[in-house]
Amino acid sequence: MTNPLPTGATIGILGGGQLGRMLSVAAARLGLRSHIYEPGANPPAADVAHATTTAPYDDAAALTAFARSVDLVTYEFENIPTEALDIIEAITPIHPNRRALGTSQDRLVEKNFLQGIGLNVAPFADITDAASLDAAITTIGTPAILKTRRFGYDGKGQARLKSPQDAATALADMAGAPAILEGFVSFTAEISIIAARNPQGEVACYDPGENIHRDGILHTTTVPAKIPARLRTDAVLLAAKILNTLDYVGVMGVELFVTPQGLIVNEIAPRVHNSGHWTQNGCAVDQFEQHIRAIAGWPLGDGSRHSDVTMENLIGKDMDKVPALAREANCALHLYGKVETKAGRKMGHVNRIT
Ligand code: AMP
Repeated sequence: MTNPLPTGATIGILGGGQLGRMLSVAAARLGLRSHIYEPGANPPAADVAHATTTAPYDDAAALTAFARSVDLVTYEFENIPTEALDIIEAITPIHPNRRALGTSQDRLVEKNFLQGIGLNVAPFADITDAASLDAAITTIGTPAILKTRRFGYDGKGQARLKSPQDAATALADMAGAPAILEGFVSFTAEISIIAARNPQGEVACYDPGENIHRDGILHTTTVPAKIPARLRTDAVLLAAKILNTLDYVGVMGVELFVTPQGLIVNEIAPRVHNSGHWTQNGCAVDQFEQHIRAIAGWPLGDGSRHSDVTMENLIGKDMDKVPALAREANCALHLYGKVETKAGRKMGHVNRIT
């Protein structure tokens, strides 16, 4: 893509959740339109998008019509079926590209990629059966985590092994799905860096945020992360290396473990990321606008942090706190308009300027 997308153009977004919703709002602010493709009814993004297609990812006719109605396609989640992408890509460009998506969809491919470009990852091994798991436990040791190669998110599809005796139960938890064993990293903190790259090859990174998880789900992200300047620089450099190698266009979230030996890459997400929501109230240009700018071939915006922020997710019953949060000073409320409140479901978040 050489020419920037003009205002009035339409961006297709695969997935109609909160990320698609916030991308649509950002696109609208830049005078662009968005068209959501989502199988489920009442997607949060449909409230704010110009158009919505409600159809499954195996509906070739709906995918074709969707692709023809937009100027380019992006996505808010990784697990999009390959066949759907093939149909779309024959008609219109997809950003971030298929290589980035393919790399992040499979933990084994992802680990090999990251290691191949010289980055540190947890010790890992491909697990196909009980024998390969036993062999991996011998080399990697315990504690360790067995993770499905595909379709894992928010800590799902994972089993912890405290000792080699846990092998059989952990393997049963995978229900026959291809998996990897990862050595347990004794980290001092978890941070993430949100990075952006445009087709011209410009790269911009937000300040790394420090993440706290509860029950496997992100609870808070705080900026600035309490890490030495040296590690902040390392995070920026390694993110830029990942984006450049993938010839990436868009925003990516890179999750990192901080250890006494330096940074270890946990995983990459080829999309806007929950741990980047603080940018909405901490920067002139947030991660959603930055993603739209990047995929539209616009100059990247100013993502320097003007405020210290703590982002807190509102999950399930946290919605009961909304009346009190609405009265709180220096607290920006972001609700996703989800019809049904369920335990473990991300309903919104707040950004507290600290
Ligand atoms: P993931 O889905 O891979 O991001 O894992 C979810 C969470 O589990 C991470 O944010 C960490 O808190 C923890 N975790 C995952 N992998 C490891 C590991 N190899 N060592 C220690 N903790 C881990």
